[in-house]
Amino acid sequence: MSQTGEILSNVNLKGDYYSIEFYAPETAASAQPGQFVHVKIGDDRGDWILRRPFSICNTDPEKGIVNVVYKVVGKGTAALAKTAPGVCCDVMGPLGNGFVPVPGTIPVAVCGGYGAAATFMLTRQKEKGVLLLGARSTADIILTERYEAAGFDVRLATNDGSAGTKGFVTDLIPQLLAENPGKKYCFYACGPHPMLMALARQLRSLGEMGQLSIDHRMCCGVGSCFACVVKVNAPGTADGWRYARSCSEGPVFNLEDVYVEE
Ligand SMILES: Cc1cc2nc3c(=O)[nH]c(=O)nc-3n(C[C@H](O)[C@H](O)[C@H](O)COP(=O)(O)OP(=O)(O)OC[C@H]3O[C@@H](n4cnc5c(N)ncnc54)[C@H](O)[C@@H]3O)c2cc1C
Repeated sequence: MSQTGEILSNVNLKGDYYSIEFYAPETAASAQPGQFVHVKIGDDRGDWILRRPFSICNTDPEKGIVNVVYKVVGKGTAALAKTAPGVCCDVMGPLGNGFVPVPGTIPVAVCGGYGAAATFMLTRQKEKGVLLLGARSTADIILTERYEAAGFDVRLATNDGSAGTKGFVTDLIPQLLAENPGKKYCFYACGPHPMLMALARQLRSLGEMGQLSIDHRMCCGVGSCFACVVKVNAPGTADGWRYARSCSEGPVFNLEDVYVEE
Protein backbone atom coordinates (compact mmCIF):
# COMPACT_ATOMS: atom_id res chain seq x y z
CA MET A 1 0.00 0.00 0.00
CA SER A 2 3.00 2.30 0.47
CA GLN A 3 4.94 2.91 -2.74
CA THR A 4 8.05 4.90 -3.62
CA GLY A 5 5.88 7.34 -5.57
CA GLU A 6 8.35 8.70 -8.10
CA ILE A 7 7.15 12.07 -9.38
CA LEU A 8 6.54 11.78 -13.12
CA SER A 9 5.34 15.35 -13.64
CA ASN A 10 4.53 18.35 -11.45
CA VAL A 11 3.06 21.30 -13.29
CA ASN A 12 1.40 24.57 -12.37
CA LEU A 13 -2.27 24.66 -13.42
CA LYS A 14 -2.89 28.29 -12.48
CA GLY A 15 -2.02 30.53 -9.52
CA ASP A 16 -1.41 28.36 -6.46
CA TYR A 17 -2.79 25.16 -8.04
CA TYR A 18 -0.58 22.31 -9.26
CA SER A 19 -1.16 18.94 -10.89
CA ILE A 20 1.27 16.18 -9.95
CA GLU A 21 1.62 12.61 -11.23
CA PHE A 22 3.10 9.88 -9.05
CA TYR A 23 4.15 6.42 -10.16
CA ALA A 24 2.11 4.39 -7.66
CA PRO A 25 0.80 1.28 -9.46
CA GLU A 26 -0.95 -0.35 -6.50
CA THR A 27 -2.92 2.81 -5.79
CA ALA A 28 -3.67 3.34 -9.47
CA ALA A 29 -5.00 -0.20 -9.76
CA SER A 30 -7.68 0.06 -7.11
CA ALA A 31 -8.46 3.73 -6.31
CA GLN A 32 -12.13 4.70 -6.11
CA PRO A 33 -13.59 8.22 -6.44
CA GLY A 34 -13.16 10.19 -3.22
CA GLN A 35 -10.33 8.10 -1.78
CA PHE A 36 -7.04 9.79 -0.91
CA VAL A 37 -3.29 9.25 -0.78
CA HIS A 38 -1.10 10.15 2.18
CA VAL A 39 2.11 11.61 0.79
CA LYS A 40 5.45 11.95 2.48
CA ILE A 41 7.08 15.20 1.39
CA GLY A 42 10.82 15.63 1.92
CA ASP A 43 12.80 14.01 4.71
CA ASP A 44 11.93 13.09 8.30
CA ARG A 45 12.83 16.41 9.94
CA GLY A 46 10.81 19.26 11.41
CA ASP A 47 7.83 20.24 9.32
CA TRP A 48 7.96 17.10 7.26
CA ILE A 49 7.33 14.42 9.89
CA LEU A 50 3.62 14.18 9.07
CA ARG A 51 2.35 13.02 5.72
CA ARG A 52 -0.07 15.27 3.81
CA PRO A 53 -3.41 13.87 2.56
CA PHE A 54 -4.58 14.59 -0.99
CA SER A 55 -7.63 13.32 -2.86
CA ILE A 56 -6.92 11.07 -5.82
CA CYS A 57 -8.04 13.14 -8.77
CA ASN A 58 -7.39 10.58 -11.48
CA THR A 59 -5.53 7.37 -12.23
CA ASP A 60 -4.10 5.51 -15.19
CA PRO A 61 -4.08 1.89 -13.99
CA GLU A 62 -2.21 0.65 -17.08
CA LYS A 63 0.68 3.05 -16.56
CA GLY A 64 0.50 2.96 -12.76
CA ILE A 65 -0.07 6.72 -12.57
CA VAL A 66 -1.89 8.56 -9.78
CA ASN A 67 -2.79 12.21 -10.36
CA VAL A 68 -3.30 14.68 -7.52
CA VAL A 69 -4.29 18.33 -7.85
CA TYR A 70 -3.16 20.49 -4.96
CA LYS A 71 -3.19 24.07 -3.77
CA VAL A 72 -0.14 25.60 -2.11
CA VAL A 73 -1.35 26.66 1.36
CA GLY A 74 1.63 26.04 3.67
CA LYS A 75 5.11 24.63 4.02
CA GLY A 76 4.40 21.09 2.82
CA THR A 77 2.55 22.03 -0.33
CA ALA A 78 5.05 24.83 -1.07
CA ALA A 79 7.87 22.29 -0.86
CA LEU A 80 5.94 19.85 -3.05
CA ALA A 81 5.47 22.55 -5.70
CA LYS A 82 9.26 22.91 -5.87
CA THR A 83 9.94 19.19 -6.11
CA ALA A 84 11.12 18.06 -9.52
CA PRO A 85 10.13 14.97 -11.49
CA GLY A 86 12.37 12.03 -10.66
CA VAL A 87 12.20 12.62 -6.89
CA CYS A 88 10.39 9.93 -4.90
CA CYS A 89 7.68 10.75 -2.33
CA ASP A 90 6.46 7.78 -0.36
CA VAL A 91 2.79 7.47 -1.37
CA MET A 92 0.38 5.55 0.85
CA GLY A 93 -3.01 4.64 -0.55
CA PRO A 94 -5.68 4.38 -1.66
CA LEU A 95 -7.01 5.29 1.79
CA GLY A 96 -10.44 5.93 3.25
CA ASN A 97 -13.94 5.28 2.05
CA GLY A 98 -14.80 7.10 -1.16
CA PHE A 99 -17.97 8.00 -3.01
CA VAL A 100 -20.26 5.11 -3.94
CA PRO A 101 -22.01 5.79 -7.25
CA VAL A 102 -25.77 5.23 -7.06
CA PRO A 103 -26.99 3.49 -10.24
CA GLY A 104 -29.90 5.14 -12.03
CA THR A 105 -29.17 8.61 -10.69
CA ILE A 106 -27.53 11.61 -12.36
CA PRO A 107 -24.27 12.41 -10.56
CA VAL A 108 -23.95 16.01 -9.40
CA ALA A 109 -20.55 17.00 -8.02
CA VAL A 110 -20.84 20.00 -5.68
CA CYS A 111 -17.39 21.36 -4.98
CA GLY A 112 -15.45 24.22 -3.55
CA GLY A 113 -11.88 24.93 -4.72
CA TYR A 114 -9.65 21.83 -4.70
CA GLY A 115 -12.73 19.74 -3.83
CA ALA A 116 -13.24 19.38 -7.58
CA ALA A 117 -10.28 16.97 -7.55
CA ALA A 118 -12.02 14.61 -5.12
CA THR A 119 -15.08 14.08 -7.31
CA PHE A 120 -13.38 13.92 -10.71
CA MET A 121 -13.32 10.12 -11.00
CA LEU A 122 -17.13 10.15 -10.82
CA THR A 123 -16.98 11.30 -14.46
CA ARG A 124 -16.15 7.66 -15.31
CA GLN A 125 -19.78 6.73 -14.59
CA LYS A 126 -22.01 5.88 -17.52
CA GLU A 127 -24.48 8.64 -16.62
CA LYS A 128 -22.96 11.98 -17.51
CA GLY A 129 -23.59 14.50 -14.80
CA VAL A 130 -23.12 18.01 -13.61
CA LEU A 131 -20.32 19.87 -11.83
CA LEU A 132 -21.43 22.73 -9.59
CA LEU A 133 -18.21 24.50 -8.65
CA GLY A 134 -18.01 27.33 -6.15
CA ALA A 135 -15.08 29.59 -5.39
CA ARG A 136 -14.22 32.98 -3.99
CA SER A 137 -13.23 34.19 -7.48
CA THR A 138 -11.99 32.98 -10.87
CA ALA A 139 -8.58 32.35 -9.31
CA ASP A 140 -9.97 29.29 -7.51
CA ILE A 141 -11.88 27.83 -10.46
CA ILE A 142 -10.00 24.69 -11.50
CA LEU A 143 -10.48 21.51 -13.51
CA THR A 144 -13.49 22.75 -15.47
CA GLU A 145 -11.89 21.76 -18.80
CA ARG A 146 -11.33 18.20 -17.55
CA TYR A 147 -14.96 17.89 -16.46
CA GLU A 148 -16.22 19.30 -19.76
CA ALA A 149 -13.97 16.94 -21.74
CA ALA A 150 -15.49 14.08 -19.73
CA GLY A 151 -18.99 15.16 -20.76
CA PHE A 152 -20.09 16.93 -17.57
CA ASP A 153 -22.22 20.08 -17.63
CA VAL A 154 -20.16 22.66 -15.68
CA ARG A 155 -21.83 25.50 -13.75
CA LEU A 156 -20.00 28.07 -11.64
CA ALA A 157 -20.70 30.32 -8.68
CA THR A 158 -18.22 32.84 -7.30
CA ASN A 159 -18.54 35.06 -4.24
CA ASP A 160 -17.37 38.12 -6.19
CA GLY A 161 -19.27 37.32 -9.39
CA SER A 162 -16.06 37.09 -11.45
CA ALA A 163 -17.26 33.79 -12.98
CA GLY A 164 -20.72 32.25 -13.24
CA THR A 165 -23.46 33.20 -10.79
CA LYS A 166 -22.59 35.65 -8.01
CA GLY A 167 -23.15 33.80 -4.75
CA PHE A 168 -22.65 30.36 -3.26
CA VAL A 169 -22.49 27.01 -5.00
CA THR A 170 -25.66 25.96 -3.16
CA ASP A 171 -27.53 28.75 -5.01
CA LEU A 172 -27.15 26.69 -8.21
CA ILE A 173 -29.12 23.71 -6.94
CA PRO A 174 -32.74 25.01 -7.09
CA GLN A 175 -32.25 25.97 -10.76
CA LEU A 176 -30.82 22.54 -11.61
CA LEU A 177 -33.75 20.76 -9.96
CA ALA A 178 -36.28 23.06 -11.62
CA GLU A 179 -34.87 22.29 -15.09
CA ASN A 180 -35.51 18.57 -14.83
CA PRO A 181 -38.37 17.87 -12.44
CA GLY A 182 -38.74 14.19 -11.71
CA LYS A 183 -35.10 13.28 -12.51
CA LYS A 184 -33.24 11.41 -9.78
CA TYR A 185 -29.96 12.98 -8.70
CA CYS A 186 -27.24 12.00 -6.28
CA PHE A 187 -25.09 14.87 -4.96
CA TYR A 188 -21.40 14.17 -4.23
CA ALA A 189 -19.62 16.97 -2.41
CA CYS A 190 -16.18 18.10 -1.28
CA GLY A 191 -15.20 21.56 -0.13
CA PRO A 192 -14.84 23.87 2.84
CA HIS A 193 -16.69 22.84 6.01
CA PRO A 194 -19.24 25.72 6.02
CA MET A 195 -20.13 24.88 2.41
CA LEU A 196 -20.68 21.23 3.30
CA MET A 197 -22.87 22.11 6.29
CA ALA A 198 -25.02 24.47 4.18
CA LEU A 199 -25.30 21.82 1.50
CA ALA A 200 -26.28 19.12 4.00
CA ARG A 201 -29.10 21.32 5.35
CA GLN A 202 -30.27 22.15 1.84
CA LEU A 203 -30.24 18.56 0.53
CA ARG A 204 -32.13 17.35 3.59
CA SER A 205 -34.78 20.00 3.23
CA LEU A 206 -35.14 19.14 -0.48
CA GLY A 207 -35.19 15.37 0.20
CA GLU A 208 -32.25 14.75 -2.15
CA MET A 209 -29.59 12.01 -1.86
CA GLY A 210 -26.02 12.94 -1.01
CA GLN A 211 -22.53 11.87 0.01
CA LEU A 212 -20.12 14.39 1.54
CA SER A 213 -16.33 14.25 1.85
CA ILE A 214 -15.42 15.76 5.21
CA ASP A 215 -11.74 16.64 4.84
CA HIS A 216 -10.39 17.18 8.33
CA ARG A 217 -6.72 17.73 9.22
CA MET A 218 -5.26 14.27 9.85
CA CYS A 219 -2.10 12.58 11.10
CA CYS A 220 -1.77 8.81 10.63
CA GLY A 221 -4.40 8.50 7.87
CA VAL A 222 -5.23 4.90 8.76
CA GLY A 223 -7.47 5.16 11.83
CA SER A 224 -4.88 4.67 14.58
CA CYS A 225 -4.37 8.12 16.11
CA PHE A 226 -7.90 9.60 16.30
CA ALA A 227 -6.56 13.08 15.39
CA CYS A 228 -9.10 13.56 12.61
CA VAL A 229 -12.37 12.72 14.36
CA VAL A 230 -15.58 14.41 13.25
CA LYS A 231 -19.06 14.22 14.75
CA VAL A 232 -21.48 11.89 12.97
CA ASN A 233 -25.11 11.15 13.75
CA ALA A 234 -25.64 8.15 16.00
CA PRO A 235 -29.36 7.64 16.57
CA GLY A 236 -30.09 5.79 19.77
CA THR A 237 -27.08 7.17 21.69
CA ALA A 238 -27.53 9.62 24.59
CA ASP A 239 -26.34 12.63 22.59
CA GLY A 240 -27.48 11.43 19.18
CA TRP A 241 -23.95 11.70 17.80
CA ARG A 242 -20.53 10.03 18.07
CA TYR A 243 -17.01 10.71 16.88
CA ALA A 244 -15.87 9.01 13.66
CA ARG A 245 -12.35 8.93 12.26
CA SER A 246 -12.54 10.87 9.03
CA CYS A 247 -9.51 9.05 7.60
CA SER A 248 -10.75 5.49 7.98
CA GLU A 249 -14.54 5.74 8.43
CA GLY A 250 -14.65 8.64 5.94
CA PRO A 251 -13.66 10.93 4.43
CA VAL A 252 -16.92 10.34 2.55
CA PHE A 253 -20.06 10.03 4.69
CA ASN A 254 -23.65 9.52 3.62
CA LEU A 255 -25.80 12.62 4.01
CA GLU A 256 -27.90 10.98 6.74
CA ASP A 257 -24.77 10.36 8.83
CA VAL A 258 -23.42 13.91 8.57
CA TYR A 259 -23.83 15.79 11.84
CA VAL A 260 -25.01 19.28 10.98
CA GLU A 261 -23.98 22.05 13.36
CA GLU A 262 -26.80 24.45 14.25
C1 LIG B 1 -8.95 13.61 2.84
C2 LIG B 1 -8.28 14.91 2.41
C3 LIG B 1 -8.14 15.18 1.06
C4 LIG B 1 -7.49 16.35 0.65
N1 LIG B 1 -7.35 16.58 -0.69
C5 LIG B 1 -6.70 17.67 -1.12
C6 LIG B 1 -6.51 17.89 -2.51
O1 LIG B 1 -6.94 17.09 -3.36
N2 LIG B 1 -5.87 19.02 -2.89
C7 LIG B 1 -5.40 19.95 -1.96
O2 LIG B 1 -4.82 20.96 -2.35
N3 LIG B 1 -5.55 19.74 -0.63
C8 LIG B 1 -6.18 18.63 -0.19
N4 LIG B 1 -6.34 18.43 1.16
C9 LIG B 1 -5.80 19.43 2.11
C10 LIG B 1 -4.30 19.21 2.23
O3 LIG B 1 -4.06 17.99 2.89
C11 LIG B 1 -3.66 20.36 3.02
O4 LIG B 1 -3.84 21.56 2.30
C12 LIG B 1 -2.19 20.10 3.22
O5 LIG B 1 -1.99 19.03 4.11
C13 LIG B 1 -1.53 21.35 3.77
O6 LIG B 1 -0.16 21.05 4.03
P1 LIG B 1 0.88 22.22 4.18
O7 LIG B 1 2.07 21.69 4.90
O8 LIG B 1 1.09 22.93 2.89
O9 LIG B 1 0.12 23.27 5.08
P2 LIG B 1 0.18 23.46 6.71
O10 LIG B 1 1.44 24.28 6.91
O11 LIG B 1 0.06 22.14 7.37
O12 LIG B 1 -1.09 24.32 6.87
C14 LIG B 1 -1.27 25.54 6.14
C15 LIG B 1 -2.72 25.99 6.24
O13 LIG B 1 -3.60 25.02 5.63
C16 LIG B 1 -4.60 24.61 6.55
N5 LIG B 1 -4.88 23.19 6.37
C17 LIG B 1 -4.01 22.17 6.45
N6 LIG B 1 -4.63 20.98 6.26
C18 LIG B 1 -5.93 21.26 6.05
C19 LIG B 1 -7.10 20.48 5.82
N7 LIG B 1 -7.08 19.15 5.79
N8 LIG B 1 -8.28 21.10 5.66
C20 LIG B 1 -8.34 22.45 5.76
N9 LIG B 1 -7.28 23.25 5.98
C21 LIG B 1 -6.10 22.67 6.12
C22 LIG B 1 -4.00 24.89 7.91
O14 LIG B 1 -5.01 25.10 8.89
C23 LIG B 1 -3.21 26.15 7.69
O15 LIG B 1 -4.02 27.30 7.73
C24 LIG B 1 -7.00 17.29 1.61
C25 LIG B 1 -7.16 17.02 2.97
C26 LIG B 1 -7.80 15.85 3.37
C27 LIG B 1 -7.96 15.57 4.83
